[in-house]
Amino acid sequence: MEKNYNVCTGCGMLCDDIEVESEKNIVKKVYTACRVGVAHMKEGRENAVYQVDNKPVDEATAISEAAAILKNAKNPLIFGLGTSTNETQKLAIELARKTSATLDDTSSFCLGSVVEALLQNKFKACTLDDVRNKADVTIFWGADPSNSHPRHLSKYSYFPRGTEKQRGWEEDRTAIAIDVRKSHTAKICGNNFFQVPPGGDAEFIDALIAGLSGKLPKTSYNFPPKRILELANILKGAKFGVVFVGLGLVYSLENLEPLFRLMDALNAKANFHLIPMVGHCNMRGFNENLFEETGYVNSVKFEDGAVKHGPEHSIVEALKAKTVDAALIIGSDPLSSLPRSIAKNLLEIPVISMDPCETFTSRSSKVYINTAISGVESGGIATRMDGVKVEFKPVVETKRLSDEAVLKKIMEAL
Ligand code: SF4
Repeated sequence: MEKNYNVCTGCGMLCDDIEVESEKNIVKKVYTACRVGVAHMKEGRENAVYQVDNKPVDEATAISEAAAILKNAKNPLIFGLGTSTNETQKLAIELARKTSATLDDTSSFCLGSVVEALLQNKFKACTLDDVRNKADVTIFWGADPSNSHPRHLSKYSYFPRGTEKQRGWEEDRTAIAIDVRKSHTAKICGNNFFQVPPGGDAEFIDALIAGLSGKLPKTSYNFPPKRILELANILKGAKFGVVFVGLGLVYSLENLEPLFRLMDALNAKANFHLIPMVGHCNMRGFNENLFEETGYVNSVKFEDGAVKHGPEHSIVEALKAKTVDAALIIGSDPLSSLPRSIAKNLLEIPVISMDPCETFTSRSSKVYINTAISGVESGGIATRMDGVKVEFKPVVETKRLSDEAVLKKIMEAL
């Protein structure tokens, strides 16, 4: 029996205190991880699978078929990479340049705009360790970490003791939930839950800004002004506040302007930071690597040495307009996650799917390569939701190639 500390790549928190017992390259027991992490760490164990047209082939055939698809395409789409390492993401950017591809990830329809604003220093940032050590007020806005990131509250944001917060939760911290429904996280926040109607967040923000400056907060949906004033008073007293921004808030806003205004208003009275509730273990890494290379976090098209950027180069718009003529999908399942009316256009072009799991997309792909799970079966570096880089080693060995190794082989075969 082996016993080691490992990193869990089950979500954007990249918990680095996981104990695992493995035997003959099979994970037998996982300690410290949450239910999501335990299931994730136990996922690996299959042999390598290479398929062309859903029939088994050898590695060389799958790689040369994948290379031929990319070579013959005028505008291939490279999409996914949210669970790949930084090393793999950098290779994918190089491959996109080489093949004049459109490159995008799930952040183009979730938290990409928030990460981009952070990278442009438009929000005050902090790390999860700062939160554990110093935060006295945390706001979960349109986020339910109790389900999406199950150790968030216990490891960083509410319950733990920190260097400057020796008593932890209720005595030392105030947790606030703002959401359209009473989520599990909202229940933990008790009376500090503020329920807004769907699409009502921008108005709530304006009312809260009014409350912060002592004005009467008004909303068209008659949210009790007294409660908004109570909330404003808690926020004004924060010595180290953090807003955890979830998808619920981003989907409710037409753009980030209300959030910029709110953070400015909060920082005029107190000290507030922002962390996006990134779901995939390395979506933030993709955003940062692409930003470093091109100045954009997603939705780019490489052409003649130049980089174009815009919504038309997101997976949704590119598939809708049918501007891409092949696709390399890495660790993602757009056929399941995108609206059917858009995703069905993937069925009209040759698709290469690289994924540790069989998915709808892999089953409909011309080429499927069953890759190792980053963090469980292959090592590297990923970027946590707060921008901290975390290095990990594989927990067990596998015959499956890492997605980094597959990309290298495809590039050699081009
Ligand atoms: Fe893994 Fe996320 Fe659970 Fe931590 S919170 S153990 S990273 S799934």
